[in-house]
Amino acid sequence: MTVMPSRFETPFAETRGDRLDAISAHLFRPMGADGVYARTGLYEDMVDALGRLITRQRDPRAEVFRFPPVMTRAMLQKSGYLNSFPNLLGCVSCLHGTEREIRTLVDEHGPSGEWADALKSSDLILTPASCYPVYPIAAARGVVPETGYLFDVACDCFRREPSRDIDRLQSFRMREYVCVADPARIQSFREHWIERAKGLADRLALPYVVEVASDPFFGRAGQMMAASQKMQELKFELLIPVLSEDKPTACMSFNYHQDHFGKTWDLRDAAGEPSHTGCVAFGMDRLAVALFATHGVDVANWPVGVREALGV
Ligand code: AMP
Ligand code: ZN
Repeated sequence: MTVMPSRFETPFAETRGDRLDAISAHLFRPMGADGVYARTGLYEDMVDALGRLITRQRDPRAEVFRFPPVMTRAMLQKSGYLNSFPNLLGCVSCLHGTEREIRTLVDEHGPSGEWADALKSSDLILTPASCYPVYPIAAARGVVPETGYLFDVACDCFRREPSRDIDRLQSFRMREYVCVADPARIQSFREHWIERAKGLADRLALPYVVEVASDPFFGRAGQMMAASQKMQELKFELLIPVLSEDKPTACMSFNYHQDHFGKTWDLRDAAGEPSHTGCVAFGMDRLAVALFATHGVDVANWPVGVREALGV
């Protein structure tokens, strides 16, 4: 028998698949849809502790914004998301009309469920990533200062990717540090964060690798976009073996958007050059799941260093 060399330094428990079912019973309760779960106190306490740990890493210059789980359709469309990931998008649809029209519809078609056919899209969509709303806010201020901007953002995100795997949710929490500046500053922001994230994973005793990655761009043209993104090393991910070593889970991502958002939102420096942007994204739910998958559900028995890092 040949043993494949592992990408991970920490040995991986082969039996994890079975164990995960047992673990998820401690963390989630079903709500009738794959990837949409009620979260237990045990789980939420860990998400909160992770949030505090990430806050302690914040650059004092970073401005904080917390966004609602919805944003305007127009804003998202302008960001280019529709073109790249139309399959993942969720729209807010509502019943439109007079009180009488809506009442009739509900009375006649409520019980059968056909009322849903009368839904019309509103001006809102479910936010798919927590950094999208921050670029227009920065752009509204005019010229980007030479030192750039740093932001700490977060929101509940939605992506239409139903799955029974507990590391792939439709509704999940994302936290990000975002940098708007010149290309050199974005590169060093990203390099700094890749190293910092490795340090965090070490402190949390999570096995990981950081690898170049691509986004799941839609369709055939999307495959070319993904290949080009990889070739230019625009995205890195910190991967943790939650379900398996073969398909480890992306728990953090480090993204360089070049001048995409700068041009889209007219973010420019004093010389009129479009700003570049980058972000480091923390998948709060995936990090929490990774911690429980790695260390078990009995937090009191976790390694002391991990508990100290999290303050639990
Ligand atoms: P991305 O914009 O795809 O790089 O996502 C940023 C981070 O959000 C990822 O590194 C993941 O940790 C997390 N994430 C993305 N999609 C999901 C999902 N379906 N369920 C849970 N977390 C997710
Ligand atoms: Zn982002």
